[in-house]
Amino acid sequence: MTTLTEQTGTVETDEEFRARLRGFLTENHPGRPPKDPAEKIAWQKAWLAALFDAGFAGPSWPREYGGMDLPFAQQVIYQEEYARARVPGPLGTGLGIAAPTIIKYGTEEQKERFLRPMLRGDSVWAQGYSEPEAGSDLQALRTTARRDGDEYVVNGQKVWNSSAEIADVIFTLVRTGEPDSRQHGISYLLVDAKAPGVTVRPLKDLTGASAFTEIFFEDVRVPVADRIGEENGGWQLVRTSLGHERAAGAMNQAALYRRVLSELIELARDRGLTGDPLVRDTLADLEIRVRIMRLTGMRTISDIQAKGEPGPASSTSRLFIVQFEQDLHEIAVDLLGEYGVLGKKDPHAVQRGRWVWGFLRTRASTIGAGTAEIQRNTIAEQVLKLPHDPAMPPR
Ligand SMILES: Cc1cc2nc3c(=O)[nH]c(=O)nc-3n(C[C@H](O)[C@H](O)[C@H](O)COP(=O)(O)OP(=O)(O)OC[C@H]3O[C@@H](n4cnc5c(N)ncnc54)[C@H](O)[C@@H]3O)c2cc1C
Repeated sequence: MTTLTEQTGTVETDEEFRARLRGFLTENHPGRPPKDPAEKIAWQKAWLAALFDAGFAGPSWPREYGGMDLPFAQQVIYQEEYARARVPGPLGTGLGIAAPTIIKYGTEEQKERFLRPMLRGDSVWAQGYSEPEAGSDLQALRTTARRDGDEYVVNGQKVWNSSAEIADVIFTLVRTGEPDSRQHGISYLLVDAKAPGVTVRPLKDLTGASAFTEIFFEDVRVPVADRIGEENGGWQLVRTSLGHERAAGAMNQAALYRRVLSELIELARDRGLTGDPLVRDTLADLEIRVRIMRLTGMRTISDIQAKGEPGPASSTSRLFIVQFEQDLHEIAVDLLGEYGVLGKKDPHAVQRGRWVWGFLRTRASTIGAGTAEIQRNTIAEQVLKLPHDPAMPPR
């Protein structure tokens, strides 16, 4: 595959693209992150801006909104090189979820206003979907938005919102229809995270970090111009955005875990464990799965390119990845014996406790972005075309 590079106007092969990207990532690597949380965010934002300004942001995004619009093979190369370079990833959850939704359903004015600042990291976005009584059954959500002239007045509570404490925009789902209107009465609103009436509180997770939050909306005024799609037509958008959330992660995770598994194999070799046939067998199984992950990730990207949507098969790849990352960390902790459970502050911790930290962190993997049970339901009904569970509300 060859493409015309924007910078030079010349034709570039895949391998030339790989070399150019690798050169940029190596020469401009931002170094180790600062320890102070606020400095770390600033460091990450500076990196995202540098990436954008050099034309290396948004591998799948249209060029008119600052992206690279890469052909399939180069999107794969991009994810591989990005994971290899160990550079900071995106801030917030907007890029993989809200952006594809705005690209598909937003007005031109909304695309102009929101997309570039999001991609450049100038504006951080967080997802406000889940509620205390509406997680898997998102259609039961209760946060209301009452129309008042050119504005909505939003009241309610969201929960488990990743990165909302650093967000500028919360992309959220609100009830604009009757209380029991389920999917027919939901709208998709972009809420200014700094607006009066928005309160964001961090929630501590199993690792001790506060990676997610709860959000309270009290009479928050949101311009009607910040609604994406039709009033009461938000559910169609959610389906796009959840599919993209799963798909966006697929290739990126495959590339990341390629590197992580190689590091685990290296560690097992260093500790003299690879002489044991059972250990070799376990590592070989992980090796097979990491290769399948890459192929599935490629299939998801090609589905998006061919049909414009990742489709329900993105649930298959998401399920495969989350089970892999849980197993990988569980196996790593087992292999390391008693040292495997020591946290980073312990002087005997292996590689600063990264494996036990990963073990704890990935307990959440089968919950976030739709639980493993919900992914299985999606696969059963939408991929395998099995009958809908009669105990569940109709779709
Ligand atoms: C790390 C992490 C990050 C997250 N980030 C965000 C975020 O940024 N924004 C956001 O809005 N939300 C976020 N979430 C929330 C996440 O989307 C929800 O936790 C998830 O959808 C499950 O909802 P719930 O927690 O209410 O569990 P419930 O829906 O109450 O489910 C409880 C249990 O019942 C099972 N269950 C429920 N319904 C069915 C069914 N029909 N068939 C079979 N089993 C079923 C579930 O699988 C689960 O085991 C995040 C969660 C995690 C863990």
